[in-house]
Amino acid sequence: MFSKILVANRGEIAVRIIRACQEMGMATVAVYSRTDEKALHVKMADQSVCIGEAPANQSYLNISNILSAAINTGCQAIHPGYGFLAENAYFAEMCSTHGIKFIGPSPRTIKLMGDKIGARELVGRTGVPLVPGSEGDIKDLKIAMRVADEIQYPVLIKASAGGGGKGMRLAHNRKELEKALSAARLEAEAAFGNGEVYIEKYIEEPRHIEIQVLGDEHGNLIHLGERDCSIQRRNQKLLEESPSPFIDDKLRAKLGEMALEVARAADYFSAGTVEFLVDKHKNCYFIEVNTRIQVEHPVTEMVTGVDIVQAQLAIAAGEELGLVQEDIQPRGWSIECRINAEDPNFDFRPSAGTIVEYLPAGGPGVRVDSFIYSGYSVPPYYDSLLGKLIVWAPDRIQAIDRMDRALKEHIIEGVQTTIPFHHKVLDNSFFRRGEVYTNFIARRINMEN
Ligand code: ADP
Ligand code: ADP
Ligand code: MG
Repeated sequence: MFSKILVANRGEIAVRIIRACQEMGMATVAVYSRTDEKALHVKMADQSVCIGEAPANQSYLNISNILSAAINTGCQAIHPGYGFLAENAYFAEMCSTHGIKFIGPSPRTIKLMGDKIGARELVGRTGVPLVPGSEGDIKDLKIAMRVADEIQYPVLIKASAGGGGKGMRLAHNRKELEKALSAARLEAEAAFGNGEVYIEKYIEEPRHIEIQVLGDEHGNLIHLGERDCSIQRRNQKLLEESPSPFIDDKLRAKLGEMALEVARAADYFSAGTVEFLVDKHKNCYFIEVNTRIQVEHPVTEMVTGVDIVQAQLAIAAGEELGLVQEDIQPRGWSIECRINAEDPNFDFRPSAGTIVEYLPAGGPGVRVDSFIYSGYSVPPYYDSLLGKLIVWAPDRIQAIDRMDRALKEHIIEGVQTTIPFHHKVLDNSFFRRGEVYTNFIARRINMEN
């Protein structure tokens, strides 16, 4: 096992990784930008190194500063968390060049799956169904029109390098297609430095169902069941649960098999997620693979009892998984609410400021993964996630009621948060019946009343 790990991230996920290391008896090194000097991950780690100015491209994305910090402090491995450098194949490669283990899949797998057009090609060859769409990238409007006519409108233009719901545009007809194509290209170029786009048929009212996979470097590979992440705003997840109220044992087994098929085709090891859209007829379509730990991993941990971050660390150290598929018997129900510093009453606009009071929820079946504390100032430079409230209960309705209770207990004063929004979702009768889809919020949740 490693004796010292560098955590190349900030916020709740840095804290989550440090906790895993502490439980496994590993020392930790935090890195931080000048604005994060007082951040919780810095206070919790055994050592810390300042890696630059507040803007992420000068600190949390600064590969040479992060590698120097790891080398100078004698770290054997780097955990990248999610976002920032987590899906940067060049960074993973540079770690290995410097004799430092990157905690994640191989650079080749990261690269393969990070290019969504390439990933579609690879997955298409396995026989796992893709969303109908273009085969390669869309070079011009003529090709776009031909593909759209073939698969029929509405269609979605998507960035090949996309992530975080960015670089996606909907077109209902030929006229909208031209605009959507150039808008998606521009946004992709600005956000990812890569303007390549592809086209998918727009699946109406689907569920976002993803399968957590876990594999070691010795060929052992299992899945940990599904998460339902259909509660989204602008293609970004806000509330996730496991299991999914829509998935029966038969469909679960089928999705699990498909996810393993995709993972095998990509020579996958470490933790990863295979994402699918599932329509109302239970047709399943592959959309992408996330080659990292995900924000919503705790709901899977709560129902399976597997600590996914500790598993990542052990796998990176060369250990065998020590689990077979039959060992995974999910129990009960888990829900996660993302607590963002955003004002749901004003179109979710970011709300930076100082946390004047913080009284986290507790009690039976409640888990809080967060990094804020009373007196902490939320910097405006990074994403707005303040933390996650996670509950477990024997069944879905008890989990919903427990989450409602925990959200009421969870006091954050000084910034606006998404807590009032989550109450609205949990109280919604369609949600309580499990009738959700990716446009649920737009159709069912009105923050004005
Ligand atoms: P999850 O699937 O775990 O919910 P998200 O898609 O919400 O992940 O992204 C988690 C974090 O990673 C967010 O901070 C998001 O902005 C960031 N992220 C995801 N993909 C990319 C990408 N391709 N480039 C930059 N940041 C990304
Ligand atoms: P990202 O890398 O930004 O996470 P994804 O391909 O995973 O991109 O898609 C994010 C979300 O966008 C999905 O969960 C879904 O809500 C929506 N979406 C993506 N592709 C389609 C599609 N073909 N039809 C309908 N919705 C889609
Ligand atoms: Mg996705």
